[in-house]
Amino acid sequence: MNEFSWIFIIALLLMTAIEIWLSLRQGDYVNRHRDRVPDAFKEQISLQNHHKAADYTIAKGKLGRVESILGLILLLFWTLGGGLAWLSGFWQDFQWPVMVTGIVFILSFFIISSLLELPLSWYKTFVLEQGFGFNRTTPAVFFSDMVKQFALMLVIGAPLLWVALWLMGSAGDYWWLYLWAAWMGFVLLMMWAYPAFIAPLFNKFTPLEDETLKAKVENLLSRCGFQSQGIFVMDGSKRSGHGNAYFTGIGNNKRIVFFDTLLKSLNEDQIEAVLAHELGHFRRKHVVKNMLVMAVMSLFGLALLGWASTQSWFYTGLGVNTETNAMALVLFMLVIPVFSFFLHPIMTAMSRKYEYEADDYAASVSNSQDLIDALVSLYQENASTLTPDPLVSAIYDSHPPATLRVAHLARKMT
Ligand SMILES: [Zn+2]
Repeated sequence: MNEFSWIFIIALLLMTAIEIWLSLRQGDYVNRHRDRVPDAFKEQISLQNHHKAADYTIAKGKLGRVESILGLILLLFWTLGGGLAWLSGFWQDFQWPVMVTGIVFILSFFIISSLLELPLSWYKTFVLEQGFGFNRTTPAVFFSDMVKQFALMLVIGAPLLWVALWLMGSAGDYWWLYLWAAWMGFVLLMMWAYPAFIAPLFNKFTPLEDETLKAKVENLLSRCGFQSQGIFVMDGSKRSGHGNAYFTGIGNNKRIVFFDTLLKSLNEDQIEAVLAHELGHFRRKHVVKNMLVMAVMSLFGLALLGWASTQSWFYTGLGVNTETNAMALVLFMLVIPVFSFFLHPIMTAMSRKYEYEADDYAASVSNSQDLIDALVSLYQENASTLTPDPLVSAIYDSHPPATLRVAHLARKMT
């Protein structure tokens, strides 16, 4: 234990306390607004559905608080509790080459972590989501997903770790700069490869067949000057009743993906409006801006790691005596979320600004009323609360609350 241990413990306790306090605030606020549908939604949303959204939000909040406390316990177990020190010692006894020991240590850490989180994600899927009628996953799909994720971690994660550890070991003082360049390359490669090679391992993607909808979508794409490699429907209903639409890929590999669940709950005009909103994120350069922010933050993070990895207090302060590159990587990944937590409000504010801009764009190329109707319908289908606590929403919600978004869109129509 040293001064850094105390800074870490205080930040961790502060983060957990804030998370729990916000969650309780949210539950309380939603509960107080449970018996009245906000005026703007009275026509479309029944009191029964409003109750369901409130109960779902409150149930998710309870589970979130359990997650926060478990996260705190696990983080302390791995660091000051000696978990990492033990795991690293276990692999070192085999006396394999340094690189092999490092990679095996990191991968085993990730696998043990996900096994420790397994009961909670099981509960989330088969109790919480099931209870509200959203779950479509079977235990067989749940476990095959897990096995596939582990396999991907080995196939993609092991070579990536090899590059990272190799640079850390032999590229000199500026290894973090080279690692950053390699990481950027990897991110771009994944963005390109994900839609074509990885996503199909988990879901089926079929080209959109509905001719009238397809014509509508293609017309919108050409109006917006957007090129894509196809419009696909994804069998989201294999896992969940929640609906969504998204863009994926970069360069010549861009695709538009609709969840089959979304196509069922919206009409064609509403689907067009949702797509126009998503196109707005591209046209207003949000995708590029987010990439740039991510690039700057990872450069800053890696520079920080480059410095911290040479400091003894960084290791001893977190409960380990083995000053290896692999240990520095794991410690850094564990500790950084505790400190970056305090950046949430800034990231949220940026994201909300983008959502309004995308809504403005959608209003200019399609119909505001259709987008409003689609939003209301999606809020209802997903049992999202219409009455979040304003402070909680400002800190966490990447999208502005329904009331504000609908009011913003309604102003566009007059
Ligand atoms: Zn958006």
